[in-house]
Amino acid sequence: MLKRFGTLACEVCNFDFSKVYGERGKDYIECHHTIPVHRMKEGDKTKLSDLALVCSNCHRMIHRKRQWLNIDELRSIIQDQ
Ligand SMILES: [Zn+2]
Ligand SMILES: [Zn+2]
Repeated sequence: MLKRFGTLACEVCNFDFSKVYGERGKDYIECHHTIPVHRMKEGDKTKLSDLALVCSNCHRMIHRKRQWLNIDELRSIIQDQ
């Protein structure tokens, strides 16, 4: 992502750590497994497409309650506010 776009932004809300935190936030983002790791079987590999880049707030909100939300569900919650 960083190579392709030159920046890292949350896939849900577009938060960009470097824009808010400057140098300290540069190249920072969290990585969310869209397929829960505990559901993976031995030998399963994580593909890049199974990962979503999200900011810390969105990541917490995804995991705050069961069922965990997917990226699209969280995005539509934000849009509804
Ligand atoms: Zn976010
Ligand atoms: Zn996660």
